[in-house]
Amino acid sequence: MNNQVTIKSLGAAETVTGSKHLLTTPEITILVDCGLFQGLKTLRNKNWEILPVDATQIDALLLTHAHLDHCGYIPLLVKKGFKGKIYMTAPTRDLTEIILRDSAKIQEEEAQFANDQGYSKHTPALPLYTTDDVERALPLFVEVEHSQVVQLSDSVSFQFRKNGHILGSCSIQMSCYDKKIVFSGDIGRNNSRFLLPPAALDGADYVVMESTYGDRLHPDTDPLDQLAKVINDATEDHGAVIIPSFAVGRAQEIMHLINLLKKEGRISTWIPVFLDSPMAANATDILCKYPKWHKLSKEECDSVCHDVIINRDFHNTRNIIEKKGAKIIISASGMLTGGRILEYMKSLAPVKKNTVLLIGYQAEGTRGRALQNNAHELKIRGTYVPVRCKVVEITGLSGHADQKELLLWLKQFEKRPPQIFLVHGEPSSQQAFKLKIEYEFKWKVKIPKENEESVLFEVKASAHA
Ligand SMILES: [Zn+2]
Repeated sequence: MNNQVTIKSLGAAETVTGSKHLLTTPEITILVDCGLFQGLKTLRNKNWEILPVDATQIDALLLTHAHLDHCGYIPLLVKKGFKGKIYMTAPTRDLTEIILRDSAKIQEEEAQFANDQGYSKHTPALPLYTTDDVERALPLFVEVEHSQVVQLSDSVSFQFRKNGHILGSCSIQMSCYDKKIVFSGDIGRNNSRFLLPPAALDGADYVVMESTYGDRLHPDTDPLDQLAKVINDATEDHGAVIIPSFAVGRAQEIMHLINLLKKEGRISTWIPVFLDSPMAANATDILCKYPKWHKLSKEECDSVCHDVIINRDFHNTRNIIEKKGAKIIISASGMLTGGRILEYMKSLAPVKKNTVLLIGYQAEGTRGRALQNNAHELKIRGTYVPVRCKVVEITGLSGHADQKELLLWLKQFEKRPPQIFLVHGEPSSQQAFKLKIEYEFKWKVKIPKENEESVLFEVKASAHA
């Protein structure tokens, strides 16, 4: 019998999407995260490829957070025969349910639209998965309390520990035979106005760590000042501020900041703020339901949502687009890969007085990245849309730790130097961060390739009876 404990990244290896990390032990096989590849066509095509592991052989899935690049493949994994439990925190459960239903709907609509317009290279265009596939996955979801120890097998257990990235997001601290393995998940910020900072961990022998901003620092300027300036500049021109954002959780964070600016009199109180998302109706509830997971008081939660006009109905989107005067629109998806934000871009991006405000990470190959790189046009649903509006980015609002914060997060492992596996980063960022860790800590750092198996350790005969 194989007595090795191995790790293999089926996604998010030398790229930032498609997170799937497979831990194989003599007792149990565990998948950490089950995300979709997003961005470049070559990456998105991977979602359609055969999974390099038999889904029926995976015993359990641990989910760090509700972003699509971490949870979006779950319905397919279940379709391919996975029958184990899917562990996550309560807010992650609520968010993931909404996100997956929305993801299926977007895919069904896009396939339908492609078939109607005849622009797909495949006939008929098919959705990656459907709402029915999502419904079949939901009964496998299991809620886990923060810091609760979950025994997965005789020798393997884990705990979720808050990591401050989005509502409900966590790192995973795992006990595996006599070793400790940490999966960082996406590491958040230390000084967010919305979320608590990452919780301390007990030490580790192996750390599987994200490296999205491994080569960069967020600016020192207060993002709230920048946000006020963007909104005031646009208001002066009677323009619209369009904010592509993850619609649940992240959107509430930006709504909170806009609300703060209004309360402090730093922007006009009359500017209408629209949250256009079919998922938005549940957003308020989720925020108020989990007060332990964010910094907002009950009053702040209520006030955040009081000031926003929530639109669920697709038919009203056109009315918001045509509404004259200054306005702020928050809509998904955050990297402009799909969703209603595309309708806004089609109509509002060609108008000079408008502003698109980017607040999150934009993966390679997404329309968001194209905007960061000053694209003069965007291809949306088969046609080119000229970009004449302003494009502004506030990286200080990012949900991802920068290089300094990532190094600070690593400092907690100093007493027991671990081996590091860098995942979830583009190659340039990973290389820079690897050198930095080696310089600062003298630790062993590996950047695994996709589907490359690494042996962590061998289980002694006595430990594996
Ligand atoms: Zn994330």
